[in-house]
Amino acid sequence: MFKFLKLLGLNEWLWQETGIIDHGKRAKFLGTQPVRALTHVTIHFFQNTNVDFFNEIVKLVEQGKLNNQLDLQYGEVPIENPKGGYRTPKIVNATRTIQLHETFLSYQWCITYAIYTLYVETIDFPKINAELGYTAKNITPEKIRKAKEVFDYAKYIIRYFDTWDKDELPNPEKYSATERDYIEQTNIFYTEGMKFILCHELAHAKKHLDNLPDEACQSCFQEIEIEADKEAIENIMLGSGQERKIIAEVGIVMGILSMIFFRSTTTGKKHPNVEDRLTIALEIMQTRDDSYAWAFACVGLELWDTQFELNFNWNNKGKVTYKELYYEIVNQIKAIHN
Ligand SMILES: [Zn+2]
Repeated sequence: MFKFLKLLGLNEWLWQETGIIDHGKRAKFLGTQPVRALTHVTIHFFQNTNVDFFNEIVKLVEQGKLNNQLDLQYGEVPIENPKGGYRTPKIVNATRTIQLHETFLSYQWCITYAIYTLYVETIDFPKINAELGYTAKNITPEKIRKAKEVFDYAKYIIRYFDTWDKDELPNPEKYSATERDYIEQTNIFYTEGMKFILCHELAHAKKHLDNLPDEACQSCFQEIEIEADKEAIENIMLGSGQERKIIAEVGIVMGILSMIFFRSTTTGKKHPNVEDRLTIALEIMQTRDDSYAWAFACVGLELWDTQFELNFNWNNKGKVTYKELYYEIVNQIKAIHN
């Protein structure tokens, strides 16, 4: 099959090992931000979350619970809307439409890239080298620096818009073939994270919008949020199998973690605390003690700690497992609330 595609001259980039891979040159995408190269595939993966999922979507549309169009919005604007609110993924109650904005997609890709790269360069490679007793994996300070720059860009576009410089910053549209591992691995976790976010909104359409709780009942709203997370996780796990479970775990962690960088606190009125959503998700997925989903969660929490100068104690990093470290940090987050 691959040979066939090659003969047709299609998808040559799949084998490209040198030079620049530029998806913008081989295809026309909607939107202007480099994340546009993944939008189609992101929606495709969402629609095929598991074998019955597409039929489930069709059923919801037929029942009038879900609009048959995704409202994909484009535009070089920040996530924060000057008229109030954020251009974050949501389902619009009146029209049952799931809304997604290009800038949010950029943001989500950038935080995924940053967390993935920092995981590889500051946790995984040092661990491999220490186990082997020699430098099998070269740690690249430049990669770490770029990961932080990408993270800064993600934080920036929450409130202001700036162009994502495709020649300077890692991005999924135009990159050097020698960098493709980091970019394309990020793409996998990014699409998985977006799948979770979309499945969460779909769960609201299916279960909650027809009988929303009383406005005054904050805990009722928090309950439906947890229920939407659980339903999304269930759907994703059904489509994952053992060999893809780790990708699902990381994607779900990334999907939940994404909103944490908006604010210095994790508490919500209608939303449960971010750390509670994370912990519940990690626990119901039966995330194994040695899963790197724990480490991803820790890297994300450490970036957030640095961002808002919360000064958590990370002294046990490297001394305990990442699962243990995760719970230590969660306890410290809880301590701020009290
Ligand atoms: Zn929700």
